[in-house]
Amino acid sequence: MKRIAILGSTGSIGTQALEVVREQPEHFQVELLTCGNRVDALIEQALEFKPNAVVIGDAAQLPRVKDALFAHGIKAYAGAEALEQAVAMEDIDIVLTALVGFAGLRPTLAAIEAGKSIALANKETLVVAGDLVTKAARAKGVNIYPVDSEHSAIFQCLAGEWSNPIEKIVLTASGGPFRGKSRDELAGITKVQALKHPNWEMGAKITIDSATLMNKGLEAIEAKWLFNLRADQIEIVVHPQSIIHSMVQFRDGSMKAQMGLPDMKLPIQYALAYPERLPTTWPRFDFTRYPALTFEQPDTVTFRNLALALAALDQGGNAPCVLNAANEVAVELFLKDAIGFLEMSDLVEHCLQRIEHITNPSLDDLFASDAEARRLARERVPA
Ligand code: NDP
Ligand code: MG
Repeated sequence: MKRIAILGSTGSIGTQALEVVREQPEHFQVELLTCGNRVDALIEQALEFKPNAVVIGDAAQLPRVKDALFAHGIKAYAGAEALEQAVAMEDIDIVLTALVGFAGLRPTLAAIEAGKSIALANKETLVVAGDLVTKAARAKGVNIYPVDSEHSAIFQCLAGEWSNPIEKIVLTASGGPFRGKSRDELAGITKVQALKHPNWEMGAKITIDSATLMNKGLEAIEAKWLFNLRADQIEIVVHPQSIIHSMVQFRDGSMKAQMGLPDMKLPIQYALAYPERLPTTWPRFDFTRYPALTFEQPDTVTFRNLALALAALDQGGNAPCVLNAANEVAVELFLKDAIGFLEMSDLVEHCLQRIEHITNPSLDDLFASDAEARRLARERVPA
């Protein structure tokens, strides 16, 4: 029985993680659930899964949550500091980080500091502070299990290969809903169009990142830290069917791929149950329904976010942190109809060009770079 904390339990990954728990009650027990402000959904989850405690972001709603959960012996807290304390609770074995964006960094570090295993969905944490986070995990002997489907695929390909060096990895990308479109066509894209992903149903931020290909750039940076790779060992290939979730090539030239229908429950369950593969009744992949698996080069000229992210990966230091902060603001502004689809890249590039490069940033430097990038981005596009 693994005792789990789910940070961001009301989101896309969080609710799918709870489906996994519901299907495997003899393997998982929920100890902590957290959300930002969707407290009604959180209360419902808490009444079903009976965690020890819940933490919400919005303190104004705490009395209501306490009222609903007190009689059931479930403790309720609010705020970022409470979240950092809650992840350290003694009866937690593994923390699933399924909140979105930079907000995931501090609670992830707090969980590592407390010696908890991490099932990492919140890729932004590794993008921003991969060096510090992986160093902290090594120092504490904490394992970070990837939840992102591509990284889970690579991790699954590496099982039994721990002493064999990786020659390169191939990250697959669906190409998003606008694959093949020209820049002129992209200029007029609305948020309603961008929020429809062909193969995956996900939270709003990652859905927009998938449409701009920023998501694949963030994933390349995430892969660097998870698997200790150089930038030139990471190849990206567009595979529109999303059946091969990623591949690893070893030094003898052999290439392994992990395949399956696109369903995040599999990587979530693999991360939580590792090293065990638990039986499931989910639909199985059938080759005859996919007579052609196709592959093509990503278009980094049209999808400039990918080029910017790969440049930040090469540059290192605080560049990925600046990229991430500017992108978080850009996505937020696009979702508010304040900027167009292509202007998201303009905003990211604007911040990358202006913020001073720091080669070996401390945690304080990263918080400062994050704040500075957000300020610059908002200054350029007044709300
Ligand atoms: P969602 O937007 O669906 O969910 C985010 C969750 O985090 C919600 O529970 C939300 O609470 C909570 N949250 C958001 N901001 C804060 C904050 N500042 N403080 C505390 N809690 C907060 O996101 P997804 O589930 O799509 O994504 C989560 C992470 O997983 C992201 O980093 C994403 O990149 C990654 N990921 C997601 C995949 C997917 O299929 N969805 C695939 C691979 C990776 P509330 O509901 O109250 O707003
Ligand atoms: Mg992914």
